[in-house]
Amino acid sequence: MRRLILFDIDGTLVRGGPAKDAFVQAMQETFGTARDADRVLFAGKTDPQIAREILTGAGVDRATVDRGLPALWERYLDYLDAALEHHPMTVLPGVRALLDGLALLGDIGVGLVTGNIAGGAKLKLDSAGLWDHFGVGSYGSDHEERDELPSIALRRARERWGHLIEADQAVIVGDTPRDVACGRVGGMRTLAVATGMFSTSQLEATGADHVLADFSATEQVVALLTA
Ligand SMILES: [Mg+2]
Repeated sequence: MRRLILFDIDGTLVRGGPAKDAFVQAMQETFGTARDADRVLFAGKTDPQIAREILTGAGVDRATVDRGLPALWERYLDYLDAALEHHPMTVLPGVRALLDGLALLGDIGVGLVTGNIAGGAKLKLDSAGLWDHFGVGSYGSDHEERDELPSIALRRARERWGHLIEADQAVIVGDTPRDVACGRVGGMRTLAVATGMFSTSQLEATGADHVLADFSATEQVVALLTA
């Protein structure tokens, strides 16, 4: 395998959708509060990190948070699943053509590195018809710290495709400074795309190896990712 391309989900492949509402509703029911949910920045963080930040801000102690998380995720996935039926995720410009282009290249592995819990990642990408593109993934449900996720994805890629792939053959693709940072920790190349809430100049300031406004120039993006 020549390259392993690891995509973030929200702001990178898709946008919109009902996830935040489902998250807040599930948190209200599980912990009796979602205070400050509007003040906590979701972008680039893992789902458990977001939950902990909101709950800690609302004065819920750590043991109560840990005890309640399994029930939170169960409710969240139920609400998300139901809501996506009517409000599917919107695929960002060029994404479908990019994934189709990468699929045509036999020696490229395509996977996910996302803060979404695994079930949420699947529901979101299924709603956009994109899930089948990804052979491996690491998720917020694997580790609360995003910086730990690239090495988990690499290990899974080796298990799936053989022990021929090293970190420097992998590229992390995401829309936030946290994506760039986790790629750097993982020893991987980074491509940042300004289709989330960060501008190209903000992403350039992170020291990402490549920064793009969006993925609309399919052939160029494929060339960049597989170089
Ligand atoms: Mg993102």
